[in-house]
Amino acid sequence: MTYKIELSSDDVPKQWYNMLADLPCELPAPINSEGKDQISSLQIAFTKAALEQEFATDRYIKIPDEVRNLYMEMGRPTPLVRANRLEEYLNTPAKIYFKREDTSPTGSHKLNSAIPQAYFAKKEGVERLTTETGAGQWGTALSLACNLLDLECTVYMVKVSFNQKPDRKNIMNIYDGNVYASPSENTKVGREVIANDPDHPGSLGVAISEAMEEALENDNVKYSLGSVLNHVMLHQTIIGQELKTQLEIAEETPDVMIACAGGGSNFAGSLFPFIKDKIDGNSDTEFIAVEPTACPTLTQGSYDYDFGDSNGFTPMLKMFTLGHDFVAPSVHAGGLRYHGMSPIVSLLTKEGYITPKAVHQRDCFESGIAFARNEGVLPAPETTHAIKATIDEALKCKETGEEKTIVMNFSGHGMLDLKGYASYFEGTMQNAK
Ligand SMILES: *Cc1c(COP(=O)(O)O)cnc(C)c1O
Repeated sequence: MTYKIELSSDDVPKQWYNMLADLPCELPAPINSEGKDQISSLQIAFTKAALEQEFATDRYIKIPDEVRNLYMEMGRPTPLVRANRLEEYLNTPAKIYFKREDTSPTGSHKLNSAIPQAYFAKKEGVERLTTETGAGQWGTALSLACNLLDLECTVYMVKVSFNQKPDRKNIMNIYDGNVYASPSENTKVGREVIANDPDHPGSLGVAISEAMEEALENDNVKYSLGSVLNHVMLHQTIIGQELKTQLEIAEETPDVMIACAGGGSNFAGSLFPFIKDKIDGNSDTEFIAVEPTACPTLTQGSYDYDFGDSNGFTPMLKMFTLGHDFVAPSVHAGGLRYHGMSPIVSLLTKEGYITPKAVHQRDCFESGIAFARNEGVLPAPETTHAIKATIDEALKCKETGEEKTIVMNFSGHGMLDLKGYASYFEGTMQNAK
């Protein structure tokens, strides 16, 4: 019986895979809103490398040796594990595998993009990166990456998460990041939001606006985004390429592949190399993107041009969106609260290559607890969405008797998100309608 497929450091991919080279139709370009020039703002706020990669059409893009070394030093490749005990517990003929991005030192896949973003910024002479963080995973990863590459890091953390998770601020401080609750008094945007509503819980949209404002107003500061944009999806494909090698070693062809989707980066990173095969006509794997019913971007949003932030600093992106002023209900503690979705993931969903699915919060935690009790690993609240969908698929196989191979991306661990579990046990956790 296979339990774990490990690769060696040498197997860390030398290139990122660029989905833009293989899309079934052209990706609609970002546009300015009437009378404004956000595309120029983007060019000021981001590093040159990020912008270049955002629009690159080469199928493979070389990973700089320094970045590849940092990937290895920070523990890549990550293992692929067979969930034998979960299979037994569910009494399913399905085979379940999970790719362990929780083994990253910061506990999630986010470091895969934080490292190259900090590396390119340093190379361009930038002194400080600013960013937003929702649940705290991205701010943590960027704090560490900046520290590894000798850059300063400022993180705007959505206020409701900031107050719920004091440990997150603590860990970002340990990695030498500076953290502020957003809306904050540091920026014009923040001050305006507070003036209108002193009790504003914050949102990713507002936090993005604050971080971008700093980058737009300071030459030596650049802004860094942890999901949604094409270059972030690109960096994350390190996961899917490793996964391909591991599945070949296990002699498995996946029937169903599953990842949770907030802005789309762990989904894209783990599954784009496989979606390429489907577009090429070489596979009929089903790809499921799982989101919360509290923030149902892919299942209930409209496919439209919208801003990436609440304030209209970003250009308009064609994507599934709930509207840029959407504020997810505070009941939902996880990091899947963003109003939009990666334009590439959105397009592939619209074209029918991705099946979106929304799941309820309590069911997710129940699934996460079943997973932890059987496999030992405690999933992040976001990851429990993928687990819930995986368990659903495995139970379908139990009914039909099919021995499907189900592969799930385990995006992160929940050791710093225990509060959500506590409210589940206390019975105070609510489902969105
Ligand atoms: C940030 C995060 C997500 C959601 O972001 P994506 O860009 O959709 O991947 C999911 N899981 C974990 C553990 C995260 O930290």
